[in-house]
Amino acid sequence: MGEKITMTASGLQVPDRPIIPYIEGDGTGPDIWAAAVRVLDGAVAAAYGGRRRIEWLEVLAGEKANERTGNWLPQATEDAFREHLVGIKGPLTTPIGTGIRSLNVALRQKLDLYVCLRPVKYFPGVPSPVRSPQDVDMVVFRENTEDVYAGFEVEAGTPEARRLIDFARAELGWTIRPDSGVGVKPISETGTARLVEAAIRYAIDHGRRSVTLVHKGNIQKFTEGAFRRWGYRVAAERFPDRTIAWDDLPAGGEVPAGKVLVKDAIADIFLQQILTRPREFDVIATMNLNGDYISDALAAQVGGIGIAPGANINYRTGHAIFEATHGTAPKYAGKNVVNPSSVILSGVLMLEHLGWIEAAALIDRALSATIAAGRVTYDFARLATGATQLSTSEFADDIVARLGSARTDGP
Ligand code: NAP
Repeated sequence: MGEKITMTASGLQVPDRPIIPYIEGDGTGPDIWAAAVRVLDGAVAAAYGGRRRIEWLEVLAGEKANERTGNWLPQATEDAFREHLVGIKGPLTTPIGTGIRSLNVALRQKLDLYVCLRPVKYFPGVPSPVRSPQDVDMVVFRENTEDVYAGFEVEAGTPEARRLIDFARAELGWTIRPDSGVGVKPISETGTARLVEAAIRYAIDHGRRSVTLVHKGNIQKFTEGAFRRWGYRVAAERFPDRTIAWDDLPAGGEVPAGKVLVKDAIADIFLQQILTRPREFDVIATMNLNGDYISDALAAQVGGIGIAPGANINYRTGHAIFEATHGTAPKYAGKNVVNPSSVILSGVLMLEHLGWIEAAALIDRALSATIAAGRVTYDFARLATGATQLSTSEFADDIVARLGSARTDGP
């Protein structure tokens, strides 16, 4: 019998048989999910020998939900994620003409999942367009609820746009061309503080060296510049003993033992430096739009979207949904060919979030070994010489077969 994960003042409470809702996903989602769930279950069994097991609970969203219930995102699905706190999902088709911009965005908003977490590291053997992809080992904390993505936009030529433009001229003295579409970019101290706090806490808990606040504060002073200022303030006020700001580094520039360095970088320079000096960056905290660009740029450096995991998390309520970062790749649906690594590695993130780090480590090592042996799906095989091309399910078989040999001593 499964039990619910709960949240208490001391954090997430995870029973040995947690009920975890999952969305299989559309298009290639079923192929990928079938592979991923075998790897996740295999790792939990290998790490804990039957003492722990995930009780999966299927919930519907996307095309499958629409076919069965007439609703793209049934209330029961939202309720299940709300009740069970932690869930995982495959890619979903974005419905066209329903008034829903994206099911992913809808879930993030409904559960106020304010952190988009995207770890980016290199697995040896993955074809990469850069010379030293192994130097990339970063974790991006992207703010998920504000910025120009909040949806506050009016279309050019509409009465709303005219009223906003007239108001801006009359009240603020702004000259905006009358044929403009206009968007609003809210960046709050509240939204910034909870994001930066989560990033710093992660850096401390995972022994990371630095947190870099990435912004365009030189131009957008009261939004991105404020993000930078509030970010440093969070470090100084909430983590005075565990952080040191760049400006306060002692002569010689050594970061004192046990402290995380908090620094900042302007977004355009940062995008150059992740290519030229990636080892200088570790945990990244940034706003929604910058975070979107940065996550994808970094993912490309280590081999692209077939392998990039992600999570949307509210660290205060405990709600978290782990997800593939790519789409449904519909032309490959049902063909058993696509790369399931993105969902598998999202599952690794989920296991880490649950505190089941032994199972997470087993998958990480087994997946690394499979790729390093040149046994990969079509997307990597077409870029690497001498690789053996596997189907989605064969790739999962290979990982599962290595779980036992990757085993370390679990609790
Ligand atoms: P996509 O599904 O990500 O596919 C674009 C291309 O990326 C594929 O044709 C394939 O490249 C490659 N690719 C994607 N997933 C892969 C995997 N697992 N393994 C190997 N290669 C993979 O993007 P799209 O075609 O623009 O979007 C299709 C649908 O997905 C749309 O409805 C979109 O709204 C939705 N979507 C959902 C999410 C989400 O749920 N998180 C995110 C993005 C898009 P090649 O053709 O070169 O082999």
